[in-house]
Amino acid sequence: MENILNFNRDDLAGWLGSNGIRPFRAGQIFKWLYIRQADRFEQMTDLSKELRQKLEDHFYIERLVVEKKLVSIDGTEKFLHCLSDGQHIESVLLPEKDHFTLCVSSQVGCAQNCQFCLTAKGGFIRNLKPAEMISQIRDARYYLIQKEIDPTKLSNIVFMGMGEPLANYTNLVKALEVITDSDYGLKFSSRRVTVSTSGLVPKITQLGLDTDVNLAVSLNATTDEMRSRLMPINKKYPLSQLLEACRTFTMKPRKKITIEYILMKGVNDTKADALRLVTLLAPIKAKVNLIPFNEYDNSEFKRPSKDQISEFLQILLDRDLTGMTRKSKGEDILAACGQLKAKLY
Ligand code: SAH
Repeated sequence: MENILNFNRDDLAGWLGSNGIRPFRAGQIFKWLYIRQADRFEQMTDLSKELRQKLEDHFYIERLVVEKKLVSIDGTEKFLHCLSDGQHIESVLLPEKDHFTLCVSSQVGCAQNCQFCLTAKGGFIRNLKPAEMISQIRDARYYLIQKEIDPTKLSNIVFMGMGEPLANYTNLVKALEVITDSDYGLKFSSRRVTVSTSGLVPKITQLGLDTDVNLAVSLNATTDEMRSRLMPINKKYPLSQLLEACRTFTMKPRKKITIEYILMKGVNDTKADALRLVTLLAPIKAKVNLIPFNEYDNSEFKRPSKDQISEFLQILLDRDLTGMTRKSKGEDILAACGQLKAKLY
């Protein structure tokens, strides 16, 4: 038995074909799964009884169990999902002015070991299957329906939850195919789907070739010395290689790469850092997202003062970089960037 949500439309068409069923039925089945939110094959009333039975015999449709839901005072909601093997992941639903953004996890835990990130502290457990990424989105939509909110209001997806998405590349791309399948899938516009990476250089290039989604890179430092200290991945792929991959990233005209930069007091928040950042990003079509460090119990890093943050931003803006400070959401429920840990420890 296989979870049907692990199949993209080509996979399903292939399976149908080899079982003597016309492959176009894959679209019909996808519509039921992703547009009509079906949970059971028997709901798929425009398929023959025989086909429904065949599907029933080979597949199941899995919903993740939402074990716990936390609501922040700012409206951010964090879901703790229990996976079929008992592991846990988190996703975060962020209300914006006229839509919702869902922050999705790609792995149980994370192997990147970034020094400032709480997720890293629990180590790496395993990759998520395509279905487990897709289900976070199906569950969020289902949740909105229950609250009588139009589920299409959930229009933006960011792979900025637990894990390093590009370290789970094959499954990620399969999930992205369903997420952006505009005929029968989840129908997200690829302009509204963003994959964030700590800097796996070869996979960055590959993502540009394989998909149309937006790229975000967690830069966080302006020298190799500091970046290697904060993010061990930098020893493998130093700044020069990372920035070159950004410069040559395949994307539509007018698109920009989001450069995420956590501001940590006394670590990477000086005027010299801001000026170096401007120089480093000069050849790249980029917009900078400054993330004031989100503190947690025993975190060794601290958030700079409001004034320091706005001074840093001003240096970028004065030199014609596009940039903004990202508003932290859900800090009171540990749902902000770098605070997701599920039940890792
Ligand atoms: N592994 C991917 C996806 C995770 S995104 C990546 O690194 O991009 C999570 C984002 O939160 C990253 O930009 C990371 O740099 C940032 N982050 C991690 N810990 C943080 C913290 N304590 N405060 C603010 N941002 C943090």
